[in-house]
Amino acid sequence: MKLIDSHIHVTMLPYDGLQAMANGGIKKVISCAVAVGAKHAESYFDHFRQNYNFYRNWADSVGIELYTAVGVHPAGIPDDWTRVVDRLPEFLAEPSVVGLGEIGMNNDTQLERDVLKAQLEVAKATNKPCIIHTPNQNRQAFVNLYFEMAQQVGISPQLLVIDHAMLDIIDQINEFGAVPGITIRQQHVMPEELAENLDRYSGGMLNCDYSNIFNNDPTGVIKAARYLQEQNVDNQTIENLTYNKAAEVFKIGD
Ligand SMILES: [Zn+2]
Repeated sequence: MKLIDSHIHVTMLPYDGLQAMANGGIKKVISCAVAVGAKHAESYFDHFRQNYNFYRNWADSVGIELYTAVGVHPAGIPDDWTRVVDRLPEFLAEPSVVGLGEIGMNNDTQLERDVLKAQLEVAKATNKPCIIHTPNQNRQAFVNLYFEMAQQVGISPQLLVIDHAMLDIIDQINEFGAVPGITIRQQHVMPEELAENLDRYSGGMLNCDYSNIFNNDPTGVIKAARYLQEQNVDNQTIENLTYNKAAEVFKIGD
């Protein structure tokens, strides 16, 4: 099995987690930006570089190709966030930087709206995909708002990966033509739920969203892939969820 994990936070990943991912067949990973509680734009600039320099080499040492998404995460919006947004095109020009993320909202403040809108405009201008976070509450309203903003900006729905998709928003995402990001963990989607609702989830891409903020499992994608195999799900569907969709959206196929 060769797998892509479409959303982790590599700077928080312990070494045994990295090894477990490699041993289980993860070949490529997209690491999303987050600078929790950041006050300064420089926190993001250094974080982006850590991801695509140091941690890209680190992952390469166990045979994992690391790609990076750049952007201002709602959990850390610096006072001078416009400086980050202004320089995103420069970071997006790095060969291993494949999109914007993790962007999105947590509390629906005006500041969060402004930051997201500005980043969607960058995505539109650079024609890059976005990994957009859905919070734990009022999820349908947030997704509606994301789609409203995307339409205002004029960005193609296929460039929007709406992450942490669950049964509450999956139809909304599919109907809009966006891409479901499916996070395999207890508080989101477990392999059993994925298997039982494949007709609705099959257009998505899997990830573990590994961070040290919750109880996460770096092998979530591996476990989901194995479970689908055990359930005799056809290989094409499994490959689409665990490799092809992410390869297509982020242009990281072989
Ligand atoms: Zn995340």
